[in-house]
Amino acid sequence: MRSIIERLYREHTAAPDELRTLLAGCDSRNLELINKKARETAQARFGNKVFIRGLIEIGNCCHNDCYYCGIRRSNRNIERYRLDKETILACCREGHALGFRTFVLQGGEDDYLTTERATGIIADIRREFPDSAITLSLGEKSTEAYEAFFRAGANRYLLRHETHNPAHYRQLHPAGMSLSNRLRCLDDLKRIGFQTGTGIMVGSSGQTIDNLVEDILYIAQLRPEMIGIGPFLPHHDTPFGKMPAGNLEQTLLLLSIFRLMHPDALIPSTTALATLTPEGRERGILAGANVVMPNLSPPQQRSKYALYDNKASMGAEAAEGLRLLQARLEKIGYTIDMGRGDYRLI
Ligand code: SAM
Repeated sequence: MRSIIERLYREHTAAPDELRTLLAGCDSRNLELINKKARETAQARFGNKVFIRGLIEIGNCCHNDCYYCGIRRSNRNIERYRLDKETILACCREGHALGFRTFVLQGGEDDYLTTERATGIIADIRREFPDSAITLSLGEKSTEAYEAFFRAGANRYLLRHETHNPAHYRQLHPAGMSLSNRLRCLDDLKRIGFQTGTGIMVGSSGQTIDNLVEDILYIAQLRPEMIGIGPFLPHHDTPFGKMPAGNLEQTLLLLSIFRLMHPDALIPSTTALATLTPEGRERGILAGANVVMPNLSPPQQRSKYALYDNKASMGAEAAEGLRLLQARLEKIGYTIDMGRGDYRLI
């Protein structure tokens, strides 16, 4: 086990069998070791700095019906909302005044948000905040739509592939959604020039060690600039409402594997990890993450963007709680970097 970790640290790679061994049998001592190696790797690239992104959840209307997700179409028990352009711009203004230089617009796949409406919003943010990065996380779109978003001024796009295994994909999504389309989207995004993020939920229903190895190999081949890893958390109004949450140790292990294989990547310590356990945010950073995404959405809408139960969005998870976040990061020896934090090879 130690030699696999050493090889990941020195050569940034491991054979499929080695990854299998690591994922199947990493005990707490080896988890500590790999977290430490990943932390050292992140610190060598980024110092003790953590980038912040202001997350604006622009709407929870979604035509998809993913079995795991609280804002899925079939959930009749949530109040739907969408933010209009002025509200989104007001969130950006508030964030910019607080020092944010990246805005992440995330939302369900909402047919109301046509390419024209979305590009209008992107162009207005670009015009008003020329010094800031615009990240989108709006799901699967046509090639032409992605090109229009890029031309309008968006820089980055987050789209987790969720799983690279077709049989596992079918366990998570209804007919009508397709893994090949999701992968086509990721290829498009890369080719168009977006800094592209992908990733998975750890512990999603039916996920096997072999699936995880497949995901690691896919990500190694795609070489995304950003990698999003968080535990699956159940939402009571979904078909997976009674499934157990993803495991903390497995999430931290995967985070460290991705850091060691992708030393330059931007890897968030996710809200899901912070929701799973009180020290989750810090544990993620100590396992090699270097980004946090405080919530910049209007506080009265936050509870409606309920992807899973008890989703954290206040306190250190909130943009207005930046000082609290700073204090918590300082306790573990880190500080906030207020820059745009673009991907760069060092
Ligand atoms: N619609 C866009 C998309 O599909 O990428 C963005 C919104 S989607 C809700 C953002 C991410 O939330 C998904 O990629 C998924 O990994 C995560 N997510 C959804 N339900 C979740 C759950 N129950 N537990 C943990 N993460 C979840």
